[in-house]
Amino acid sequence: MGFFSRKKDVTPKQENPEFLAVVAKWDVFLDRIKTRFLDSLVDAEEALLSNLEESDYDIQPTMTAWAGIKSQLMALGEKIDTTFDEKVKPQMLQYKEHFDLLDQRAKGAFLREKIILKGLRRFEIVLEGKISTRFYNHAVKFLNEDFYCTQCSAKIEVRKDLFRAHYVSCDYCNTVNTFTPNDKISQIRWVVDNIAKFQAIEEWDAKIKAENELNEMPTWSRNMDITPHRVALEKQENADKAFWLKYFTVRAMFLPEYQKTIEHDIAVKMRWFYEDRKREYNF
Ligand SMILES: [Zn+2]
Repeated sequence: MGFFSRKKDVTPKQENPEFLAVVAKWDVFLDRIKTRFLDSLVDAEEALLSNLEESDYDIQPTMTAWAGIKSQLMALGEKIDTTFDEKVKPQMLQYKEHFDLLDQRAKGAFLREKIILKGLRRFEIVLEGKISTRFYNHAVKFLNEDFYCTQCSAKIEVRKDLFRAHYVSCDYCNTVNTFTPNDKISQIRWVVDNIAKFQAIEEWDAKIKAENELNEMPTWSRNMDITPHRVALEKQENADKAFWLKYFTVRAMFLPEYQKTIEHDIAVKMRWFYEDRKREYNF
């Protein structure tokens, strides 16, 4: 895990200048990929949000376009490895042994895993959260439209937290009416998940930070003092719980039917953590 971390900048004196030139070219390539990746994120957000608006809030094409962009960005990550294996490494092998090139390969792996893949995971939460929030703000307006009794035309209040068809009886004549929401309102149910994740982004960051801290520790074995690992595990446990609590609480704000199950839902999500801990640390 800590494989790529500290060693990167160690360049022994008196390197072959031709080798150094190849290294410099490799660095430029990596830098260019990184810039292209970061620029693409900015462009993607802008394009997808205006796509949503232009399609009159038809969320499906926007999500499909995002899936396409995402796979292009993942391909950018894979390009790093193939470029190293097919172009960079053969050149470097003229000056060095395989083993001496591990650090060079690690630079690419770092960019792919820590910048691109990790960056994408977080970006996805933010982007889908923003798209979903805008969609929600648009769709929810239809809930506030007036709805009238089919029998006597009296105005009927519909529930603002049930984004699906439901019966409402008329206060005036008691006729049971069926309120059928339009498509946009029914779709609210499936953007709530994205909104909840997005609103829990701070908790998510804390969860990832705690995970990283634990991953960077030396692997625990039975003859080691477990205290430092115990501390880190407790931190991760709390961070995970805080994330799920926030996530399920926000979800229940939109869909109150889930209010009762928050505790149970958190317990379900935490199960893997306790199973892992038991297996690896035996407590
Ligand atoms: Zn009526």
